[in-house]
Amino acid sequence: MLRGRPERELAAWWEAEAVAAAKAHAAKEQVRVDPGAAGEPEGKAGEEQPKEPTPAQPRAAEEGDARAPPRPPSTLPMYQAKPVSAQGLYPHGKSRSKNRSCKRSSDRSEEYCSPRPVTVDSSKARTSLDALKISIRQLKWKEFPFGRRLPCDIYWHGVSFHDSDIFSGLVNKFPGMTEMVRKITLSRAVRIMQNLFPEEYNFYPRSWILPDEFQLFVAQVRMVKDGDPSWKPTFIVKPDSGCQGDGIYLIKDPSDIRLAGTLQSRPAVVQEYVCKPLLIDKLKFDIRLYVLLKSLEPLEIYIAKDGLSRFCTEPYQEPHPRNLHHIFMHLTNYSLNIHSGNFVHSDSTSTGSKRTFSSILCRLSSKGVDIKKVWSDIISLVIKTVIALTPELRVFYQSDIPAGRPGPTCFQILGFDILLMKNLKPILLEVNANPSMRIEHEQELSPGVFENVPSLVDEEVKVAVIRDTLRLMDPFKKKRESQNCKLSSSSLSMAAVDILYIDITRRWNSMTVDQRDSGMCLQAFVEAFFYLAQRKFKMLPLHEQVASLIDLCEYHLSLLDEKRLVCGRSATSGGRPPHSGTSQEATPAAPLAEGHPPPCTNSALKLSHSRHALS
Ligand code: ADP
Repeated sequence: MLRGRPERELAAWWEAEAVAAAKAHAAKEQVRVDPGAAGEPEGKAGEEQPKEPTPAQPRAAEEGDARAPPRPPSTLPMYQAKPVSAQGLYPHGKSRSKNRSCKRSSDRSEEYCSPRPVTVDSSKARTSLDALKISIRQLKWKEFPFGRRLPCDIYWHGVSFHDSDIFSGLVNKFPGMTEMVRKITLSRAVRIMQNLFPEEYNFYPRSWILPDEFQLFVAQVRMVKDGDPSWKPTFIVKPDSGCQGDGIYLIKDPSDIRLAGTLQSRPAVVQEYVCKPLLIDKLKFDIRLYVLLKSLEPLEIYIAKDGLSRFCTEPYQEPHPRNLHHIFMHLTNYSLNIHSGNFVHSDSTSTGSKRTFSSILCRLSSKGVDIKKVWSDIISLVIKTVIALTPELRVFYQSDIPAGRPGPTCFQILGFDILLMKNLKPILLEVNANPSMRIEHEQELSPGVFENVPSLVDEEVKVAVIRDTLRLMDPFKKKRESQNCKLSSSSLSMAAVDILYIDITRRWNSMTVDQRDSGMCLQAFVEAFFYLAQRKFKMLPLHEQVASLIDLCEYHLSLLDEKRLVCGRSATSGGRPPHSGTSQEATPAAPLAEGHPPPCTNSALKLSHSRHALS
């Protein structure tokens, strides 16, 4: 599954080859993670930026369109991640492609010479503008800072897919991504996978959605405590629409949740608090990694070789009722810690309160830590998280950009916030749809007087990320064929399923913010699908039940396809019955190619089998 990559072109990225995870056929493939494949990233120190606030948005109406998610693999496929060459990594923000000439490196057979510079509309880039400008300049592409009457090749949006109406080219946002990575939606998406693959998805802390699951939270905590009285957990409460640490607090007991008033109007996630993080210089820190979702179908993910590490500014102590409110001890947000008197701005990327992640790895490596293993665990976490998000993202995508209608091709840089535990296990904290790409930071010149000054560590990491994203998305590269998902929900229209449909849809619609939604949202569909799978394939583990039902649906859909082909053919052949003893009947192994319907005996056999299978 690995493809070779021109190392100098993609120096900032590791390709996490999740290609075709979303393809139905690829779900059957199993590719092992080779921990040895992940190389040591190079670079220095880094930091985080406040993310742009994303206002609470109602679910898109299209989400109600129940479509089948891509087939969850019968055993979870894992994807090999391959490091590209470390050479040429981050030449301090300078372009590595001095000659963007017609003659490109030999391993780039999939590219051809650009007839003109790539055009980029940066009019909606907002806070990423500075880093984008540098990147475009380095690539010798053409920027349109005020937009353009003619279409551009690439549109760079600061916030959302819908920042402007685009009908062609490439845009750096997926529809629905902001909604998908909100705390509640992310928790739900990961939980579905945790139910199916508990071992594979143990990188996300146990979470409950408030206020809906408050009673469940209380009951589950009580149950575990009853079983193990020595368990003294801490929980972190995070408002769904919050960012930059806003509204977050720690509790020791469910009864400490501030239920009064706010929860109804401001839903939240309550999560097990990771009490034993890895410390450096006695300080807690987290990692901001940049991940490029290059394509949904086939699924293509790239992980930046370097990211930022954001440090707390007060020495860490395990949570205790006396220190729960010490935000500079427990929360790593840059936007909070910048206001601590202990925040250290540094000219070096390997010291201070914001450093490059690679500098942390160098330090760990010098202490004998197996950083290849750390990287491979992180890559695995990223891929599995994206897989969890993909089904619903596809629903958004197909709603906003239906196949056959003009629309742009999407890609997106995501910010993954990851915490390393003391035992070096990476834990996913959250995913940001709009990671800050600002390359300057606030500095207090004199008490109370702040000024924006260039930030070396931000520039080093973020310009490389944007530049290499643009390179990867270069529209003058040949595009790969994409495959449409052939699943649909039409095969579930039996009377019993109708009742289930009405029941579940009504329940989920009453929970969604946007009452205009019609039909079944994806979560409702997943619930219904799991229910049917459990009823039909009793005694199997859940993931096998689901896989079996998907197989069955795919099978029936393929029969429908065949029937349509046969009908189409008979229509075009003047109504002649399709199966009238032609030579095709004698070749049961004939391939199912367009214009060559399957032999009728084969179809008849399959149909009778299908009736049997459904009964
Ligand atoms: P926000 O979007 O407001 O930044 P996060 O989920 O990133 O919310 O949480 C803010 C900070 O709280 C994180 O950067 C991290 O330092 C800390 N944090 C969040 N969740 C956990 C957790 N489960 N265990 C330990 N620390 C956490």
